[in-house]
Amino acid sequence: MEITSQINNLDRHNLFQLAIENISDQIILTDKDAKILYVNPEIEHVTGYTPEEAIGTRAGELWGGVMSTEFYKEMWKVLLEYKSTYTGKLQNRKKDGTLYWAEVKISPVLDKHKRISYFVGIERDITVIKEIDRMKTEFISLASHQLRTPLAANKWLLEMLISGDFGELKQEIRNEIETINTTNERMISLVNSLLSISRLESGKLMVEPVETNLIEFINNISNEMLPKITEKNLSSEVFVDPKIGNVYVDPDLLRHAITNLISNAIKYSPDGEKIQVKLEDKDNEYVCYVKDNGIGIPKEQQNQIFKKFFRANNAVELIGEGNGLGLYLVKHAIEVMGGVIGFESEENKGTTFWFKLSKKGMKRHEGKLTISTA
Ligand code: ADP
Repeated sequence: MEITSQINNLDRHNLFQLAIENISDQIILTDKDAKILYVNPEIEHVTGYTPEEAIGTRAGELWGGVMSTEFYKEMWKVLLEYKSTYTGKLQNRKKDGTLYWAEVKISPVLDKHKRISYFVGIERDITVIKEIDRMKTEFISLASHQLRTPLAANKWLLEMLISGDFGELKQEIRNEIETINTTNERMISLVNSLLSISRLESGKLMVEPVETNLIEFINNISNEMLPKITEKNLSSEVFVDPKIGNVYVDPDLLRHAITNLISNAIKYSPDGEKIQVKLEDKDNEYVCYVKDNGIGIPKEQQNQIFKKFFRANNAVELIGEGNGLGLYLVKHAIEVMGGVIGFESEENKGTTFWFKLSKKGMKRHEGKLTISTA
């Protein structure tokens, strides 16, 4: 009662101040040259500097400068050239010298002539979340590595049993062993996907662009998939715009993405249908489409399709096996290459997955790991 009457007595300005000064995110207002005009008290929790110390300095002058020049260039490009909101994660340094991870959202404030007059930024300390994420990725990586060796040993023994190396088997025993072998293969594929995910999520993945003839590249992958296509009595069509030349791409990542999309098109198409792979030259981008006339994705589940472990109901009904990690990996692989992925789908009519890659090629990224776990 007392609080309500207090708030009723406050004017809009005071309410606004009360909210900004007590919010648990750091809020900064700067002029167009990034000089800090206002910062809320949370700054002291996040950076160790008081508002008095920060006001008058350039945003980040006291705690920034930890990331690469390239990173800040990108950030200022979004803010100054595109005049858009920049959202990102970056590392900063506190007053006591310790590093912390922050999630930032910076927006330019435009005047009526669309000129930047201020910047307003929100910064949140996400060091703990980052650390938990790192531990989770490390755990998945360790567990998957530990599982690989026994599964590989099982595979070896099961294959020896099946091929009669330990003597001829009775048909029913052989059938059972084949079932165990299929389950073992499924486990190997799950463990490999988990390892690929931990590699992607660790941020240590190498992106090594190599000049590649995309026409040959797509044709080769499609040919490699032919046995799977004919096994299901499917037909396939590959159309590559002959104008397309060489481009700098990471072949390992690109192969991973295209192979996965074609495998899904095969898996979710009824026998006898057609699969089309198309590569188009569109303005500044190359666009690759993988189209099928299969089961499609139910509309109400389409927004979940790139989530880890997600499988749509109709896919689960059709094929029990599958781990829902393939598309999550494909999306990450495309994004690591600076591309974009999307799809159109109608249930029982078919699905077209597409991704776009810039003609300029992709940026090199130093790293120790590759996506393939072989
Ligand atoms: P998985 O195929 O192992 O289930 P993915 O991550 O590759 O895992 O795909 C996730 C889900 O997306 C699938 O379970 C299915 O519901 C849907 N999906 C992917 N590709 C297709 C496709 N071509 N047609 C219909 N559904 C698809």
